[in-house]
Amino acid sequence: MSWFKREDNEIVNDARKTVRTEGLWTQCGSCRQAIFKKDLEENLNVCTKCGHHFHINARWRIKLLLEPGYELVDLDLRSTDPLDFTDLKRYRHRLTEARKKTGLNDAIVNAVGMLGPHAVTVSAMEYGFIGGSMGAVVGETIARAVDRSLATRNPLIIIAASGGARMMEGIVSLMQMAKISAGVARLDDAKIPYISVMTDPTTGGVTASFAMLGDLNIAEPGALIGFAGPRVIEQTTRQKLPEGFQRSEFLLQHGFLDAIVERKDMKGYLVQALGWMGGGASVAKQETPALNV
Ligand SMILES: [Zn+2]
Repeated sequence: MSWFKREDNEIVNDARKTVRTEGLWTQCGSCRQAIFKKDLEENLNVCTKCGHHFHINARWRIKLLLEPGYELVDLDLRSTDPLDFTDLKRYRHRLTEARKKTGLNDAIVNAVGMLGPHAVTVSAMEYGFIGGSMGAVVGETIARAVDRSLATRNPLIIIAASGGARMMEGIVSLMQMAKISAGVARLDDAKIPYISVMTDPTTGGVTASFAMLGDLNIAEPGALIGFAGPRVIEQTTRQKLPEGFQRSEFLLQHGFLDAIVERKDMKGYLVQALGWMGGGASVAKQETPALNV
């Protein structure tokens, strides 16, 4: 038996937003122009015509930031499906599919390595895994990244890409907001820098917790960042939202972000920011701390 069934008002995907991925060409979701896929990839998945930032996966993000020789860590946690949840499909089937599709156990990848001259811990969310939703595994994995930063005094960078809390884990997913926020507060007490990088989309419980708690909160251009999505707000308030509402540029204007940084400039920006903030020890090889979890 499914718990929720939507009989009418099916949410219809706006066909214009669909990016075709077959063949050698793809269409930009922003300027509608056809782009040669290879050019797009070489340009870090940023439209060569209009600068629209397409999604990239967690592993690619880490590769773009860290020097060769970095290490992916904390990859083996798996959700136990605590509620034995079924909506349109069984949650465990969704997990199996997502694992197959992404090659990851959940919507997050931790890495330790060097960002320019700074040793750092990076936690990158994977939107391709059930919309980057945050359940117990995402929460615990970020908590382990926090522990690594506390043990090494290396700054933490979290790259958010998430639709919010994972509803299939109910209250367990909501608890992660408090858990990660408490971890980030410990970094603050220890005076270890934490930089939050928001990418498209960063919404729901992720925005409402750690994504907005960085010592520095920065975002990629044009990223959707908010709590409830614009469609939900429009349907609730029955009002048309202003142009560009909940996009990075709007948030910067209204004081929610410190900066908007293009993908190609992200590494340089972070190196510089960590320099000002007193980044991690400039050591050639970072030792992986023993975890006490
Ligand atoms: Zn474009």
